[in-house]
Amino acid sequence: MQLTYKPFELELKHPFTIAGFSRTYTPIMLVQIAHEDYIGYGEASMVPYMGESHKTAAAFLQKVEMEQIKYPFDNALINAYLDDLWPGQPAIKAAIDIALHDMEGKIKQQPCWQLMGSSPLLMPVTAYTIGIDKPEVIIQKVKEAAAFKVIKVKLGRDNDKELIKTIRAVTDKPLYVDANQGWTNREQSLDLAYWLQEQGVLLIEQPFDKADIDSNAWLTQRSPIPVIGDEAVQRLPDVAKAKGVYNGINIKLMKSAGMYEARQMILKARELDFSILMGCMSETSCGTLAGAALAPLCNWVDLDGPFLTKNNPYQIPAFADGKWVLSNEPGLGLYH
Ligand code: MG
Repeated sequence: MQLTYKPFELELKHPFTIAGFSRTYTPIMLVQIAHEDYIGYGEASMVPYMGESHKTAAAFLQKVEMEQIKYPFDNALINAYLDDLWPGQPAIKAAIDIALHDMEGKIKQQPCWQLMGSSPLLMPVTAYTIGIDKPEVIIQKVKEAAAFKVIKVKLGRDNDKELIKTIRAVTDKPLYVDANQGWTNREQSLDLAYWLQEQGVLLIEQPFDKADIDSNAWLTQRSPIPVIGDEAVQRLPDVAKAKGVYNGINIKLMKSAGMYEARQMILKARELDFSILMGCMSETSCGTLAGAALAPLCNWVDLDGPFLTKNNPYQIPAFADGKWVLSNEPGLGLYH
């Protein structure tokens, strides 16, 4: 097997602002693994706050010895090999994992959703995320979200109610909200949770700092709508730790080191009676299709990458009725 890679900058349609920071593009590492006549495609999306970059990804890939991966379908062993090689760096590990799953599907002539034990018939609708912005831009973004049946709103600053009111003036679609650890006051957060419920909000993501387990658990016990851990839940061992702190977890391939571990996390989450949100970073169609292959195993889906970016190097996958449409193509079903 031969691994090649190319740094890429995925540009955002709108500068993306959430509680804490703002950016206009996301560094991506596009990865290809070739084996006989087959090519598997993968991607690492390295949002700056996660600590990975083109530089760290290239350094990691230079350490990977493809001859160590004797059997491309042995995902557990490959996952362990990559973790032994270097701690952390889940996004670039995900790129390798996704490329190997794409290849596995192509070799076995099976779509990735089938490899994952998933079903296109159970695909949930996907949310479209709106970052923090001026009211006129928010209204414009809601209009751009016409094809979506759910909107996710980034909260966590001091104008949360205002933002929701601005959106409610132009749409009555159900909303998810994500505070991105931006809330700091327990009583206020509970009042807000009740108010948000009246506004048709279905879930709250990561209300308090991920290290503030007590405040997150406090709100989860009292909130009328489910509270979902995102920043607090990255890899498999984090799932069990989230029990009693959140009602559900947000799984992203760029945090979980890829599809293999994301599936393990889904199984563990179900065992622990968690609700599951399949999320994403700013990703091309490659990462989106990998997430979509697992999405039918989840309760909620937030895979909007291709709709928020300008220079996706791949075709946008089929999308209908607010959902990704999984194809019967072998592998991810990714096209240039
Ligand atoms: Mg989030």
